[in-house]
Amino acid sequence: MTHLPAHLLNGYRNFMSGRFTTESKRYQTLAREGQSPSTLIIACCDSRAAPETIFDAGPGELFVVRNVANIIPPYTPDGSHHGTSAALEFAVQVLKVQDIVVMGHGRCGGIGAALNPSAQPLSPGDFIGKWMSMLAPAAEAIAGNGLLTQAERQTTLERISIRYQLANLRTFPCVKILEEKGRLRLHGAWFDISTGELWVMDPKSGDFERPSLD
Ligand SMILES: [Zn+2]
Repeated sequence: MTHLPAHLLNGYRNFMSGRFTTESKRYQTLAREGQSPSTLIIACCDSRAAPETIFDAGPGELFVVRNVANIIPPYTPDGSHHGTSAALEFAVQVLKVQDIVVMGHGRCGGIGAALNPSAQPLSPGDFIGKWMSMLAPAAEAIAGNGLLTQAERQTTLERISIRYQLANLRTFPCVKILEEKGRLRLHGAWFDISTGELWVMDPKSGDFERPSLD
């Protein structure tokens, strides 16, 4: 007797008769030889912005870390439990990924919380409040900008945060060194849930533009 929700079991049944069957060779190879994805994606937990779906990726192609609002806490070797740093360390040092993409998205609840820090904590631990406080200086500056609508403030912080996360990535010595050697590239991207548009950050200006898909 299983207690998994029916929609998960139905989905799994479809997966086994569909993708796992049609891609069985690939799964066998991956099981035998291990994974060697060339790309690390750091994305939000949001159920509407799954990197594997957006980039149409198969098994073994993307190494994905997801947390609230796709944040990379800066390099802090203090003996605490750093989940995102652990995944980053593994992707860079063991998998030797060549590209790291930080992907934000529209209508991000975490970013919305950062813009409204006076909201009541969701629980005594206030984990989201504490997590999003990493964006507090930028959030305060944007929240006080009367020229922007609420939706514009939200999008602005979603995109500016991606710039900050790329800067945080470079606080990790392994990332900084490999990028300087030309063996690692960092990218920012932002996905619009309602239109499906993907915007990519220009590495020099920090501006976001839509890539040519020709
Ligand atoms: Zn989000």
